[in-house]
Amino acid sequence: MAHNSEFAFELRVCQWAEREWAPASAGDAVLVARQLGTQYRRWDTLILECDPDGLEARGAFGPEAFDSDHLHVLEHAPVDWTFYRDALPDPGYPWRYVRESIHELADRGALDTRKRGRRIEIRRQRPYPDWVRRVVAIENKPDLTASAARDLADQLERDVALGLADEVWVATAVTDERVEPILLADFPPEAGVLTVDTETGSADTVWEPRSLDADGPGTRITERPDDDYSAARFEYVDPAWKEEKRRAIAERAYERGWRSYADTMRPDCRHFELRDGPTGVSPYCTAKERTPTARECRGGCDEFAPEPPAWRTKGWPIEGGPGAASKRLLARRRRERRPGLE
Ligand code: SF4
Repeated sequence: MAHNSEFAFELRVCQWAEREWAPASAGDAVLVARQLGTQYRRWDTLILECDPDGLEARGAFGPEAFDSDHLHVLEHAPVDWTFYRDALPDPGYPWRYVRESIHELADRGALDTRKRGRRIEIRRQRPYPDWVRRVVAIENKPDLTASAARDLADQLERDVALGLADEVWVATAVTDERVEPILLADFPPEAGVLTVDTETGSADTVWEPRSLDADGPGTRITERPDDDYSAARFEYVDPAWKEEKRRAIAERAYERGWRSYADTMRPDCRHFELRDGPTGVSPYCTAKERTPTARECRGGCDEFAPEPPAWRTKGWPIEGGPGAASKRLLARRRRERRPGLE
């Protein structure tokens, strides 16, 4: 079995998606990220289908994510110098936060600013592009037992009702047995089901999803009683909220991608390796003889052994040792998917 934990499985799903995902519009670019969402919901794997020109134009703004407040300014920044309050629509929160965002954007070189008397004027450097066409969310459940399927069904119903993503899927590991239809019976029919072979890096669709109305209003299920008598409680979610969240999620996905595990793991441990397998490059621990989980591979790991200083001088005069080289390799792979970055 090429996966031995949900984390290892998740990496394989990300590798497969980056390599094989067929966007709804042929020619669209694909960006993959993991462990992103809103305060209410975190998805395991996220696929963004992107307009290739828009993605390249996004690259001109640099590798870091913009938050919702930044986006509010960038999307309305004028072509010509204008007092910021005349240029931007009322944000619905105090203007001083807008001024903070303006200064942050100016510091990042994403916006021109100048002072006219006591007034701050702003001017855009380039239009912020509409670069994301579709958002696909995947829940990874390598071992789809009956109880895991029941738990997931509730979560998927919430995803479908909210419609923040254009599609939701469950990915499970391929086994000798086919996925029992009974396990899928509780899933909402809008959710797709995928079996992933972690040895070969291939995947099969067991159930096709339906596109959700990501541009329309959504429903947040706030309470779902266990008994048959009480009514569930819902909250209306307006399309503008969804649009704002989708853009902010896309920005974080742009910055993080799915290789950011190197930021929290210990590539500077002498047991840490990046191994190139049939499914792609994955972290590997020679002490544990498998892909370590992100939780295991930290400073508190009992088997952590720092890279000997000699590794950093022998053959690694400038680069700073294999740990640093691993991080650079992952960063390079991330950049390959993000054209237009300087
Ligand atoms: S020994 Fe611990 S810290 Fe070192 S690579 Fe393995 S899991 Fe990570």
